[in-house]
Amino acid sequence: MKLVATWLLAALLAWALPSGASGQTGVRIIVNGVQIPLAAPAVVSNGQVMAPIQGLFEPMGALAAFYEVDRSIVITNRVRATVRLKVGEATLRVNGDARPLPAAPALVSGYVVVPVQPIFQALGAWTKWEEAERTLYVSSQVRALTVQTAGGALQVKIDATGPVQAETRMLTQPDRLVVDLLHAALRVTERTIPVNDAGVLRIRAAQFQIKPYISRMVFDLQEPVEVRVLTSPTTYLVTVEVRPRAASPAVPAPATGSGPRDGSGAAADPGAGGAVKVLGVTFQGGGDAGRLTVETSGTVEYKIREFVYPDRLAIDLDNAVFVPVKQDLQVRHPSIALVRAAQFTAEPPVTRVVLTLKRKMNYVVNQSGGALVIDINTSVVGRGHVVAIDPGHGGRDPGAIGPSGLREADVVLDISLRVRELLSRDGVRNVILRESDVTVELPDRPRLAREAGATMFVSIHANANGRATVNGSETYFLTPQSLALAQMIQDELGIVLGIPSRGIKTANFLVLRDSGVPSVLVEAAFISNAEDETRLRDAAFRQRIASAIHKGIMRFLAIYPAPVAP
Ligand code: ZN
Repeated sequence: MKLVATWLLAALLAWALPSGASGQTGVRIIVNGVQIPLAAPAVVSNGQVMAPIQGLFEPMGALAAFYEVDRSIVITNRVRATVRLKVGEATLRVNGDARPLPAAPALVSGYVVVPVQPIFQALGAWTKWEEAERTLYVSSQVRALTVQTAGGALQVKIDATGPVQAETRMLTQPDRLVVDLLHAALRVTERTIPVNDAGVLRIRAAQFQIKPYISRMVFDLQEPVEVRVLTSPTTYLVTVEVRPRAASPAVPAPATGSGPRDGSGAAADPGAGGAVKVLGVTFQGGGDAGRLTVETSGTVEYKIREFVYPDRLAIDLDNAVFVPVKQDLQVRHPSIALVRAAQFTAEPPVTRVVLTLKRKMNYVVNQSGGALVIDINTSVVGRGHVVAIDPGHGGRDPGAIGPSGLREADVVLDISLRVRELLSRDGVRNVILRESDVTVELPDRPRLAREAGATMFVSIHANANGRATVNGSETYFLTPQSLALAQMIQDELGIVLGIPSRGIKTANFLVLRDSGVPSVLVEAAFISNAEDETRLRDAAFRQRIASAIHKGIMRFLAIYPAPVAP
């Protein structure tokens, strides 16, 4: 039944679009190297690539939401660029400024279909339609490189219009550090930047490759350096920090700049053409931090690559033989799923270590003689945020009562405790407004959240309706700043619960009005409906609700920075 419906929608979409849209095959959209899995086929209509909005903007770090109430489409990104469109109107608004659109967004068989290129361009992306490949390429742009030195370190800030992946590589003879920015088009004029500090002679920037775009920076080095790559959770800024390698005072930089670099003490010189031995990989993790140590017989050249979907960090060690041949580490860590090391290629010998991450993270790489150390900082998502979880009702107020006697106050407390557990596991600070069946007066709830320093407020309820047949989930919001949070949570509920998603709605509830931070009220299911009530009695269903709320919150945290404390 479901398959038939999907096929029908696809067929209808092809028929419904004007000017020879039917019969088109294989229009692909590739955003920052990711081919978008389209909810319905994209088509080219009057020279415009038209595609459904689902999943389209996320590889560009942006989210799209459709509001049925006024048929508007809102796309927001991490730097708070907001693009607004309306079904049937050939106008686009970027942070309020109106621009004409070559084609209007349309509702086609239940899909919201938009002209793709003008929206990406409004978000600051580079786009190109390749007719021969029937492919639209979209990538982030690097619009500024800022170089500064402080405290003996060099900081290069890479300001991009969307997410960029940084890949670093150390080369010797002469010593160079290469930083590749994948899927990033270079839009800066200054291409050679003299430095003469912090171990760096100069930086050269260039568009190294087109399709896919790679922007390359080469740091010509005066002495061995350490490198840190920091990815901002709240902007698209990537910072590369370079400083002379610490703890190597015994090794003066060779005046000629030639000859193998060696770590102090270690038997570093592998001999002419000899490979470095990689003896093994260990991982230590605790709290937010994680440290991967790669034990080597000497200094190695290495390259770090970032991958997405899933997020991975791959460290390639050149001219390196992995003595254990293959090593899998079982890692119990809130943010790291897996560590694998293996001989990647035998000739030339390359050892590859891959960390599979549960989300994107900052990392710092240090090498000293016998070890390459990768420190990972996971305390990035949600930093500065405090999530207030408000289990509805309780104590004197049982809330709504189901046909078989289930009390809303009990159900929502259980769900709330599960949400708290999931957030805590991710290291997200939170506060719950009641932990047991006690009375908390309604006006006290926003106040308690404020006093706990909450930066967002999530109230959890079960719905009731006079008509016993009504069921499903819905999420309420009131203020504009709460809209994205409501949409993100409701999206997740709609995906996992298997009951109707009734969408997001506005309501003038006190808890939505008075907390002063993004606030939503989730009505997870209808306790007044016998089937939903039965579902709510099931712990697995309550866990699914909690997990959906948690996912929605995490999506919000990944995009919206916490407000700066006054
Ligand atoms: Zn309620």
